[in-house]
Amino acid sequence: MKSSVTQLVELAPALEAVLGADAVLTEDAQLDAYTADTYWPAIHARAAGTPLGRPDVVAVPRREEDVASILRVASEHRVPVVAWGGGSGTQGGAVAINGGLVVDLRGLDTIVEIDDVSMTVTAQAGVNGNVLERTLNARGLMLPHYPASSEWATVGGYVAARGSGVLSTRYGKIEDLVLGLRVALPNGTLFDSVPAPRHAVGPDLTQLFIGSEGTLGIITRATLEVVPLPAERSFVTLHFPSVEAGVTAFRTALARGNRPSVIRMYDEEGTRRTLSPVLGVPLDGVMAIVVFEGGEGRLVAAERAATIELARTEGARELDPALAETWWDRRYDFYKPPHHPELPAIWGTIDVVASYARIHAVHQALKTAVRDRYAPEGLQLRMHFSHWYRWGTMIYARFLIPDGGADPLALHDRIWADGVTAVLAAGGVMNDHHGVGLKLAPFMPAQHGPGLQALRSVKSALDPLGIMNPGKLGL
Ligand SMILES: Cc1cc2nc3c(=O)[nH]c(=O)nc-3n(C[C@H](O)[C@H](O)[C@H](O)COP(=O)(O)OP(=O)(O)OC[C@H]3O[C@@H](n4cnc5c(N)ncnc54)[C@H](O)[C@@H]3O)c2cc1C
Repeated sequence: MKSSVTQLVELAPALEAVLGADAVLTEDAQLDAYTADTYWPAIHARAAGTPLGRPDVVAVPRREEDVASILRVASEHRVPVVAWGGGSGTQGGAVAINGGLVVDLRGLDTIVEIDDVSMTVTAQAGVNGNVLERTLNARGLMLPHYPASSEWATVGGYVAARGSGVLSTRYGKIEDLVLGLRVALPNGTLFDSVPAPRHAVGPDLTQLFIGSEGTLGIITRATLEVVPLPAERSFVTLHFPSVEAGVTAFRTALARGNRPSVIRMYDEEGTRRTLSPVLGVPLDGVMAIVVFEGGEGRLVAAERAATIELARTEGARELDPALAETWWDRRYDFYKPPHHPELPAIWGTIDVVASYARIHAVHQALKTAVRDRYAPEGLQLRMHFSHWYRWGTMIYARFLIPDGGADPLALHDRIWADGVTAVLAAGGVMNDHHGVGLKLAPFMPAQHGPGLQALRSVKSALDPLGIMNPGKLGL
């Protein structure tokens, strides 16, 4: 949907009347700050001077009621509305491809309540991840959702993109940690979902909005589970004879009730190209970094011993645990220069999830469809397995081509199409925690089949004018 010039000219004054002039941005330099999240084509297009999208107006609400008012104004003027959290998303979800209105939620930055009896925190959507973490840490608590982007990302973005943090194997993904949400609906009303994640009062509306990426409404606050800072954190480094041996060891450990907080297992190329440079030590083969933690030292020690024993049964060798501790200390260095690529390189992460019965077929499919097919273009594929569940695990497959050549965008899109198609054919799910945005929208029909129509019906009931983040999520 595109807005007419008249609709846009009237929009800024209408917003100013509701929010005040200082909450409405219209200067070119201000709008330019919202042209790209961390989606490679958006970064590439911005660098070329032809951004994928640029808002006509940005609104910066200071109160949750303001968000409802903004949506009322946007409906009246029939302009597209895109929620902007920290802009750290990798899928193009926050890019205003049809122009219109961006709602920058970072002004909603209040931590409303820390309830250390119930072990919950209620925070407004724009609270920054690291700010929340530091505040909780000062109270002896932590949010167990701790993504590598917490420096930039917001609470609303965590929830809207259905993300996962580094400690998810023990504590769960964001959808396991949300108790309730407050959401501004496109019709300009605020509603609070049922504030308990376990109930029997019908389908769960909280879950409907987790992963909705601003297409159904705008999340203005979330109540999340917190846990005590672990009294004990213990590190293990393992070297496996094969990926298959590692998967067998860890799925058995999880099935028996062991709950490491981190299991990060690198395949051969992942060890050589990703792990080794960050740790600054020559390493090869299949390596796993494993972390155990909790409030009871005896339990941590028992889980650690039991998991190591299972790994040994599968032929693993234990290496210096200091390597795993260094990994922990440097876990964000993977995403920063010199370890993170820059233009003119092409990069992207095909993160996929699958049951244990299918995970090896998916791993092989990625090697064939991406690594081998694009070897002539100089592609490197670094894979690790993280975010483990009792029933399956995810593969974080990061591809990199140091120089994208004459038509890097076409090459980027071909790699994605081949990778995702191969993953789906092998029985995988195209994404574990990065969301859909623009990047995976074309694959939503293949992922959901007829179920996508049900989601589209929900969307048109909530957002009959189609103003909420159009073009995203395949809706
Ligand atoms: C270096 C790096 C590391 C990363 N590591 C991880 C990781 O470990 N785990 C992980 O899960 N992700 C990771 N990501 C991806 C990204 O940071 C997450 O998806 C994050 O949750 C996005 O939060 P944000 O506030 O930046 O959202 P944005 O990028 O601003 O928005 C993401 C999507 O959500 C929508 N949205 C934002 N706020 C709201 C709201 N309040 N209501 C409704 N819709 C909203 C936007 O419109 C957009 O569609 C990483 C990204 C980078 C760049």
